[in-house]
Parts: sequence; C-alpha cells; structure tokens
Amino acid sequence: MCEFCTKHGEGEKWYLQAKNYSADLNSDLKRRKFAIDFFRKTTEKAPRDLKRLEWLSSFPRIIQDMVKGLVTWKQKKEHFGQVVPLEDVEKILSMVNTVVAFPCLCRKVTIKKEVRCCFGLSISPAVDSVISSILCDSYLNGPEVQGIEKVDKETALKMMKEFETDGLAHSVWTILTPFIAGICNCDRSDCLAMKITVSHDLKMMFRAEYIAQIDWELCNGCRECMGLCQFGALSYSYSLGKVAIDLSKCYGCGVCRAGCTKGAIFLKPRNNHPQVAQVW
Ligand code: SF4
Ligand code: SF4
Repeated sequence: MCEFCTKHGEGEKWYLQAKNYSADLNSDLKRRKFAIDFFRKTTEKAPRDLKRLEWLSSFPRIIQDMVKGLVTWKQKKEHFGQVVPLEDVEKILSMVNTVVAFPCLCRKVTIKKEVRCCFGLSISPAVDSVISSILCDSYLNGPEVQGIEKVDKETALKMMKEFETDGLAHSVWTILTPFIAGICNCDRSDCLAMKITVSHDLKMMFRAEYIAQIDWELCNGCRECMGLCQFGALSYSYSLGKVAIDLSKCYGCGVCRAGCTKGAIFLKPRNNHPQVAQVW
C-alpha cells in the first residue's frame, strides 16, 4: 500500500474511500478558492515552471534533489495524482453520484486545444453546478463553457475505455488532499504532470497499486503494446522474440493490457512484488 492509503485510506485503497470524495468544494470555501486559483493561474504559470525546471537541471544534483523534494512535499498536500487502472476507475464511478466531463487544463496549455477528457467527481448528487462555476470562474470562458457536460457513469466509463485504447492512462487527482476532485486521462506529450514526473524526475504523479506482467506463453512478439506505454517500461527482446516489462519503470496503468489482442498482459498487486512494493 502507498503512503496515501496509510494516511487517507486506513490501509485500504485511499481512492476507494467514499469520505475522500465527500468534502464538497461547495461546503469548503478554502478548497473552492484553491481550485479557482489553481485553474486560473496554471495556464500562465505552467510554461514558466517548465522553463524553471530546465534551468534547475544545470544545478548540482544535491540542489536539484532538495528543490524537487520540497515541491513534491507541497504537491502531496495540495494537488497530486495517482495512476488507477480501468477496473478501479469503474469502482470509483460506482461510488460517486455526479460526473462532469470538462476540457483538460494541461492540453489547453500544451497543445492550446479543448480536449474534453477530464472528469470532475462528487458524492453529492447536485454538485455539477459548483464544478461548472469553478471552471467558468477560472479558465473557461466564452463558447468553451459549452465544453462542460454532466455525463452518466456508463458514458464516463465508455469514454475512459476509449481513451485507454488510444494510449491514455487514468489517474485520480486531489484538490487540497485528501479530497479527490476528479479523474484525468493522460499521455506524456500533453499532460504537464506526467511530463514533469517522467521527463523531469519531479514527482507529481504516483504509481498505481498494481504492476503489469506478461505471460510469455501467450505473447507472440507483435509489439503492438510497445507504442502505448507512456512510461517507457516495455522493451523487445530479439533473442526471445517477446516483449519484457521493466518493473522499476512500470506505473501499473494497464494501457498495454488494453492494446494486447493476445490477452498476454495482466495487472498484479504491487505489494506482491518485493522489489517494487515500495516504488511509487
Ligand atoms: S501486444 Fe501482447 S502479444 Fe503483442 S508483444 Fe505485446 S504482450 Fe506480446
Ligand atoms: S508497462 Fe506498466 S506503465 Fe507501461 S503501459 Fe503497461 S502497465 Fe502501464
């Protein structure tokens, strides 16, 4: 179990605890203000922060590690993500009562396009107007407001299955931890947090409670899965004619599994693998 399960899930998966969806943005003004500021400022702040990260890489390793450690510590308290496979997305959707699809903030920054692939969640049946007003007060305006849509759970799950087939990994995100505000669908080229985590080695997104494994009896070496992994965890062995997983890089998203027509890839609990049980 990860540190979030210990702190916010009483030893169970913290993102499957109803209480972590229940402190409505509506009833906590501090959280609501944080959310509005976060969405409002990220479009301006993110490109600056990415430049600062490039600049940081010119400093000695010890300075880099210290700065990154402080940023991660702050992110854990305010806004971080954890990868969740589709089966857990389904369990989360069965717990909440409101799902709102809205355009991804990261993609608004990186590709300057509206891509409706993020989902706001709440236990409260009537919180969609709150989520919508936060988004409209912060970074959506004009015709883009039409990009916010209340969706039923079946539709949300169907959309996320399609995103997964396209190679996007699901992740839950906090707005003032431990409140979980939504599920994002990320890839490394467009998602700021994934890019910062994987390419700049600054933890904003944490690994799933799972790890992938390949059954070599079933794998035919077609390599269809390789282009789907956002984390560079798959490699091809020419001598074996099979694909192998680097467990130290695997985030347990399950995207490779969705792309394997031979059913050769499985997700197993991370806890069962001593060598990566504490790698988050
Ligand atoms: S897609 Fe499946 S069968 Fe093809 S290489 Fe990957 S694991 Fe093997
Ligand atoms: S190897 Fe791991 S990180 Fe890569 S797609 Fe598969 S489950 Fe995700």
